[in-house]
Amino acid sequence: MSIREYAIAAIPADGIGIEMTEATIEVLKVLERRFPDIRLNFETFDWGSDYYKKHGEMMPADGLKTLEPFDAILFGAVGTPDVPDHISLWGLRLEICQGFDQYANVRPTRVLPGIASPLRNCEPGDLDWVIVRENSEGEYSGMGGRAHRGHPEEVGTEVSIFTRTGVNRIMRFAFHTAQSRPRKLLTVVTKSNAQRHGMVMWDEIAAEVAKEFPDVTWDRMLVDAMTARMTLNPKSLDTIVATNLHADILSDLAGALAGSLGVAPTANIDPERRYPSMFEPIHGTAIDIAGKGIANPIASFWTAVEMLDFLGEQAAADALMTAIEQTTWAGILTPDVGGKAGTVDVTNAVVSAILDSDVQRKSVG
Ligand code: ATP
Repeated sequence: MSIREYAIAAIPADGIGIEMTEATIEVLKVLERRFPDIRLNFETFDWGSDYYKKHGEMMPADGLKTLEPFDAILFGAVGTPDVPDHISLWGLRLEICQGFDQYANVRPTRVLPGIASPLRNCEPGDLDWVIVRENSEGEYSGMGGRAHRGHPEEVGTEVSIFTRTGVNRIMRFAFHTAQSRPRKLLTVVTKSNAQRHGMVMWDEIAAEVAKEFPDVTWDRMLVDAMTARMTLNPKSLDTIVATNLHADILSDLAGALAGSLGVAPTANIDPERRYPSMFEPIHGTAIDIAGKGIANPIASFWTAVEMLDFLGEQAAADALMTAIEQTTWAGILTPDVGGKAGTVDVTNAVVSAILDSDVQRKSVG
């Protein structure tokens, strides 16, 4: 038996990121027992807000060089009330995303069995989306400035940057994603009626790239109308591509419609695989519940599914996703999704489902 080995850098960072990453590594170690031809070699880094308080930086200056040889990064969550957001976010998470040119942020959303969507009449399967978020430029390019601070004539600018290269590559990634899914359906979101430059360029590039994917059906939506369509007609959507800001907002809505932020995963991908990609739950540090043992680990487990999938370990990814669905379907749920279970109960249930291969073969309804 030849063994496929992967080096995984774990960065739990802050708040519930620490307990969620720990539970995820535990689950992945159990998955290794079921798939003995896979070996996941974890190295955990203590970077984050506590590290900042000791060292004056969120990670060492050569942090990116340290991470570069890894096959993937498993990230928890970053931020704490006593370190300013712009330091904690830009000093770690965004530093990695930008340093490794992880330009595609992928956010799968689905209503898991046993979890209720706040939408009326939302049957299982009605809401099954992948949101592709441009992750390297646009509204979050950091361009802009302030002048005449504190004076009545103070001015602040926040400039969106859209490049042909940037839009082209995210569009191509989104069409590929849509093509790989059964419905082959893509919705391109902009605001090109009111924003007449960069957004019109998005629309034009979408039409150009679409010609390379004749088997993908695509349409365009304005972002405001998109919120209504997601809420009123979720079934009409499959893959969605949008700018950094628009997709940020739409994916929070998607997470809420799927039941809770506590179940939503995300992946920051370098599609060209020049650098390691980074996998993290959508939720943040949730300081209000950190250390209480009630945080939902499903988002983090699903994040691990995305990681295995990206590493090409489809069978292990499917087995973990099935174990997650077995657990939610059985009603072993944390309070954020209406249950009474703790993090440990959900983790143990997923572990049992992984190990019980008979259970794996049963349908989850
Ligand atoms: P940050 O500033 O790091 O983004 P935050 O607390 O403002 O953190 P989130 O962590 O995204 O934002 O969470 C918002 C709320 O959603 C939390 O206060 C928490 O109650 C709930 N929440 C988030 N993640 C989970 C989870 N995994 N399990 C249960 N509840 C969660």
